[in-house]
Amino acid sequence: MSTGTAGTGEKRVATDEQNEPESALETARRQLEHAAAHLDVDPGVIERLKHPTTVHRVAVPLERDDGSVEVFTGYRAQHDDVRGPYKGGLRFHPDVSEEECVGLSMWMTWKCAVMDLPFGGGKGGVVVDPKDLSDGEHERLTRRFAEELRKFVGPKKDIPAPDMGTNAQTMAWFMDAYSMQEGETTPGVVTGKPPVVGGSEGREEAPGRSVAIITREAADHYDYDLDGLTVAVQGYGSVGANAARLLDDWGADVVAVSDSGGAVHDPTGLDTHAIPSFAEQPNAVTDYGVETAGAELLGDGNDILELDVDVLIPAAVGNVITVDNVNDIRADVVVEGANGPTTFAADEILAERGVHVIPDILANAGGVTVSYFEWLQDINRRTWTLEEVNSELESEMLSAWDAVRGEVEAKDITWRDAAYVVALDRIAEAKSVRGLWP
Ligand code: NAD
Repeated sequence: MSTGTAGTGEKRVATDEQNEPESALETARRQLEHAAAHLDVDPGVIERLKHPTTVHRVAVPLERDDGSVEVFTGYRAQHDDVRGPYKGGLRFHPDVSEEECVGLSMWMTWKCAVMDLPFGGGKGGVVVDPKDLSDGEHERLTRRFAEELRKFVGPKKDIPAPDMGTNAQTMAWFMDAYSMQEGETTPGVVTGKPPVVGGSEGREEAPGRSVAIITREAADHYDYDLDGLTVAVQGYGSVGANAARLLDDWGADVVAVSDSGGAVHDPTGLDTHAIPSFAEQPNAVTDYGVETAGAELLGDGNDILELDVDVLIPAAVGNVITVDNVNDIRADVVVEGANGPTTFAADEILAERGVHVIPDILANAGGVTVSYFEWLQDINRRTWTLEEVNSELESEMLSAWDAVRGEVEAKDITWRDAAYVVALDRIAEAKSVRGLWP
């Protein structure tokens, strides 16, 4: 399946005369400047926010299974901590770079602020293809990376989480390595751990759940009936499958879903629970399409983006809606499940066309929100039930939605600008009351 310029989510390729930005950092800075125009903020604050506080670059030696030694490069970008410790994922991916980590750490700063969480943005990773690592090598690489980052992370400093190529087990190893060196079990150093070592119920489903909640609220805002709302979901992984199944349960018609193996479409609505998610059986969406009466396979991977649906949820990778296909998007509302699925230039065209784009920093923020709940549970040594987690998540998402909707209505701006305005306003106020020292 081809998705044009799609990559890890954040790498950009200049595709046309509209001069699309090339990296997450460039996009993040452009979005910051764009939103700042709607706010009465000290320009010095905006200038400070264009730069990360620190980027740690570390060498991570690994003894391979055959006894040879290879050295990998790891990064941890810490963007801004005016509202609390840095928070953000650690990825193992060949495309990890300093610039990518900085751009993604900026997005985490806005995401935490729009959700009003007491965190700032961080992001890091190791330049490695996890498919080339045995389980033992993955564990040794994680433990050594944890040791190299040990001085810079901690429950009060910087709290990593899983991201591409890392998972709950990676976080358990990271936490164990950190705890052994610190001399005390410190579950709050990372989130996204297995529940048995301090992970939270509901963490895995949370980003998809928040996408579903925001889709429901957007439908209500634009006077669509949730019952029969037509939805297409690109990417049937953690975010996409959880969002699709919840919306299906709530009465929406999920008419198309896709994964990197292909896309399936049924105008009467798919049985989302019968389609295996990526974790259940990777890239099995097309098998369902072949075996199920009424379902048809879509010819090209990008076709799903161009279906005439009420809501399109890109939940796979970044940069899938670009100037090359933006005029073929026929959905009325786009809810961003993935990080950065819409390029800056495409976003402007969608706005001109009256397509409402609910941004990633709001829609998929359920992940970091339940990470916050996990951190609270770890610090307080008290676990919450799944019902408590989901009920608190619902309430946090509605507060954020209300704050962003308030700016959309008051300033007549896009949902993305409104989310940035809410976030920047909070960050700028914190910077203002704390001051610049010396
Ligand atoms: P995942 O690995 O569980 O699933 C990704 C899915 O996308 C898979 O079904 C895969 O086959 C499919 N896919 C990959 N490339 C594709 C393509 N070109 N076209 C169609 N489908 C494709 O990943 P995930 O955790 O669901 O993450 C998806 C996106 O959401 C990423 O951008 C990620 O950064 C973002 N996100 C994830 C979380 C989280 O905690 N899981 C939180 C916030 C944001």
